[in-house]
Amino acid sequence: MKLFKKILVAGVAAAMTLSLGACGNKEDAEVVNVEMEEVSNGEDDVNAEKLTFGTNAEFPPFEYISSEGVIDNFDGIDMAIADTIATQCGYEAEINNMEFDSLLLALQNGQVDAVIAGMTITDERKEAVDFSVPYYKATQVMIAKDDSDIKSAADMKGKKIAVVLGYTGEECVKKMGYEYEAFKKGSETILELLNGKCDVVVIDSATAEKYIGDNEGLKIIEDPNAFVAEEYGIAVKKGNKELLDKINTAIQSMIDDGSISEIAAEYLDEDSADDTEGAEAEGAEAGEVKMEEINEDENGEKPEVEGLDQ
Ligand code: GLN
Repeated sequence: MKLFKKILVAGVAAAMTLSLGACGNKEDAEVVNVEMEEVSNGEDDVNAEKLTFGTNAEFPPFEYISSEGVIDNFDGIDMAIADTIATQCGYEAEINNMEFDSLLLALQNGQVDAVIAGMTITDERKEAVDFSVPYYKATQVMIAKDDSDIKSAADMKGKKIAVVLGYTGEECVKKMGYEYEAFKKGSETILELLNGKCDVVVIDSATAEKYIGDNEGLKIIEDPNAFVAEEYGIAVKKGNKELLDKINTAIQSMIDDGSISEIAAEYLDEDSADDTEGAEAEGAEAGEVKMEEINEDENGEKPEVEGLDQ
């Protein structure tokens, strides 16, 4: 049944994509929802209206494909947050997975109701969409081979730099005036690095931790003077105040009761547990450091998510 459901969704999604240029709107999405409910056969709450989140499931630990995801096969910190928000607002969460650089367009077209994708709130994006209150704080970092001599962002001069297309990492490197190559996926940049085809990758901090945990021989180089703090937010279509208010209320309650911190800690902890099981001792170390940071405040009511002012 689950397989059938997925095939149907893929088919309808393809049809929607084709029709979007001419007349993509929320009504199309509702047709999808009705059909989803008909085939889900009691697997989900058939009475709950769907809240469709757009994401790009190529950004561990925030969103990735897993055999046992939180929402269908989609797993990660963002997916758990999306699921909780939907439930709190009386909806059932649904994921529409697409390219990162298609997400804001999909929002504007009405193909999705909201976007949750480890997306940094930027002034440029704010011109196109409205953002929720921030729910996670991150920064860009550099990943290089263990023996690299790169110690700061300035050392990237003359090096072969890889970034992901449309990520804030690309913006940073562009602003620094360096030449770079942009790839569609974070995993592709890491492959380039491992194969010696580039010298350094610029990407978000938690994702970098995940990649160096999963791959031997890589290290993270931080440069807080060059890379400023970024905040992740959930995007909605410009002017959709009704949904934005609901999402903000849900996020605020999850910050207040510590559940965002707990979700983040759970996924970061999972990474370090995976690492200790494997042969990658260095990755395990990185995961442990991360957990120490999160659990730093012994007396606090809730653990701090990395750098998130709560
Ligand atoms: N935070 C980065 C950005 O907003 C990367 C997000 C992502 O890869 N999903 O551009």
